[in-house]
Amino acid sequence: MTENEKIDVLGVAFDNLTMDEAVDRGWALMQQRRAAYVVTPNPEIVMVCRSDPAAAEAVAGASLTIADGIGVVYGAKILKTPLKQKLPGIDFTQGLFARLAEASGSVFLLGSKPGVAELARDRLQKQWPGLRVAGVHDGYFQEDGPVVEQINAVAPDLLLVCLGAPKQEKWMHRWASALDVGLMIGAGGSMDVFAGTVERAPERWQRAGLEWLYRLLREPKRLGRMMVLPKFLLCVLFRKKK
Ligand code: UDP
Repeated sequence: MTENEKIDVLGVAFDNLTMDEAVDRGWALMQQRRAAYVVTPNPEIVMVCRSDPAAAEAVAGASLTIADGIGVVYGAKILKTPLKQKLPGIDFTQGLFARLAEASGSVFLLGSKPGVAELARDRLQKQWPGLRVAGVHDGYFQEDGPVVEQINAVAPDLLLVCLGAPKQEKWMHRWASALDVGLMIGAGGSMDVFAGTVERAPERWQRAGLEWLYRLLREPKRLGRMMVLPKFLLCVLFRKKK
């Protein structure tokens, strides 16, 4: 597999790909079955990596780093190293589901509150009849070992890790060498959307690059977390001047 161009946004190296290229690359990694992982950083995670070396190391260890949010795309543009497009992790995951469904492949759903992964399993199996959900586990476990064993017992093609960032990135980095899976993706709040417990922004909002605003309006408690956005922008502008 040839290496593709990387775009640095405040220390995180993003793969510069279209969605089709990213899904092709994810699929190829899955076939290698070496538990490589995909990360989907938004500006918040980029900023976390600047102050949390373990998070930065986990993100840097990914085989594929896609720009989940419009903020990263703007950041890259301001830095005069534009990315081809925004690559929402949830769309990327669905691209892999489509391929897995065709190939009768399997996925293990890890994360979210108890009961949510089961709901996601039921909905995903209806939506993608060829897709096998080989197992589920909530994201509030105390010991990692038994969870790793449960995943390895079914050896899925894809492991969805939805523990929130940067916990999910650190978890994938820590356990990659022990896991018998094709590929992992740190997919944040996607499980809640697949389960139907959280609604995704309507397409018009997504196209306008306002998915973050929709999410903020639905979950105002996210405002505190989003205060890091102006800081991200200032860092990008400062870097640009240099
Ligand atoms: N979560 C989890 N275990 C934890 C912390 C969070 O499974 O210890 C789940 C949480 O229930 C939610 C998901 O992680 O379903 C992602 O949460 P968040 O909204 O923070 O997602 P992000 O902004 O990272 O996409």
